[in-house]
Amino acid sequence: MDWWFKTALWKRVLGGLALGVALGAILSQIMGGDAAADWLETWVKPIGDLFFRLIMMLIVPLILTTLVSGVVSMGDPKKLGSIGGKSVLLYLCTTFFAVWIGIIFGLLFQPGAGVDLGGAEAVPVSTEAESLTDRLLAIVPTNPVAALANADVLAIIFFAILLGIGILMAGREGKLVGDFFSSAAEVVLKITHIVMEVAPFGVFALVAHTVAAQGLEALASIGLLIVTVYAALIVHGILVYGGIVRFVLGLPVMSFARGIIDAQAVAYSTASSAGTLPVTIANATENLGVKRSVAGSVLPLGATINMDGTGIYLGILALFTAQAFGYDLSFADYALIAFTAAVASVGAAGIPSAGLFLLAIVLGTFNVPAEQIAIIVGFILPVDRIMDMARTALNVTGDCAVATAVAKWEGELDEDRFRAPADEPYTPTTGEASPPSRTPD
Ligand code: ASP
Repeated sequence: MDWWFKTALWKRVLGGLALGVALGAILSQIMGGDAAADWLETWVKPIGDLFFRLIMMLIVPLILTTLVSGVVSMGDPKKLGSIGGKSVLLYLCTTFFAVWIGIIFGLLFQPGAGVDLGGAEAVPVSTEAESLTDRLLAIVPTNPVAALANADVLAIIFFAILLGIGILMAGREGKLVGDFFSSAAEVVLKITHIVMEVAPFGVFALVAHTVAAQGLEALASIGLLIVTVYAALIVHGILVYGGIVRFVLGLPVMSFARGIIDAQAVAYSTASSAGTLPVTIANATENLGVKRSVAGSVLPLGATINMDGTGIYLGILALFTAQAFGYDLSFADYALIAFTAAVASVGAAGIPSAGLFLLAIVLGTFNVPAEQIAIIVGFILPVDRIMDMARTALNVTGDCAVATAVAKWEGELDEDRFRAPADEPYTPTTGEASPPSRTPD
């Protein structure tokens, strides 16, 4: 058992992922896809569901405690404006690149050309979106306890920031509450470590079930679309995030990549960036050296509004639809697709398949009728998961890249910790003052 805990967590998580793919594929071969999926659903997937519940359990306490203690540790509320401004700007910039990369890949690979939509079962989707005013107003909770109970991330961020500012303004009188939250943040991070020990098994179980449930024939029929989406996601990850880390920040890309493998694997297997948030926060603070003041604010915000993978996907799907139904698009159409895909990705929730159901907003730009939208959604839905997993992993990567950049610009990045090799076992750390969890080998 000793070797298990001595092996770095990211290696165990990746091992779980690889074994999950193998089990799903082998069982599908032996029993047939449907029977394998049923068997895995009964006997294996519950371990994955258990893991997912465990990380969901941590979202609210982790955001609240890290953000409040982060604001208090900043010591100056003015810094918050600067952190918020920089992160929103950078989130928007990366999303801009994402949607155009999606469109370019859609044009290059032509995934919808000659596709046979005959077998698709139409899935009608609503085209009504909540108004922008309502969405902005909802950021202010009428009842913070209800916001916590509903895991309403933006409302929790709003309340936590105000709480932190209140503590700072109260000075000596507020110290007790401030200390309480930083101590609570430590405790919740410890719980995150316990939960992360379940990650290799959870990832294994979720991936095994997904591989069997998606079925190889279904995947083959839509293979070019999957290849297009994966290629665009990888190129965006390398060019945009790799570029930010290497050329804008002057930091080693490999340290960045290794530091967030747990979060990427969890995002990949759960297809939920909101669900992955506790792992993302733990990886960013402990492996990348992003201080809590930045991680606690920038990452929950990113999990809510920054979805570059989703933006890329929506751009590609818009072109897929145009190609499948023979629409002729002009440059103005592409620009409109880019704009609406960016807006839709900001509005997408960090949950499985959220992006696909926003397709109607993007397709509205070139007046695709509701019946055709329903056919496209019905055609994609059975295999959406395999693309959802990858775009979610990219969404989480983007959040971490932006958090690292903002932390560096604000002087809130522990570069020694960022650069430390990640081959050590996952050693829980105690707070920001502690030495790096990863020591040189
Ligand atoms: N599943 C994605 C996420 O959680 C959203 C999407 O469907 O694109 O980030």
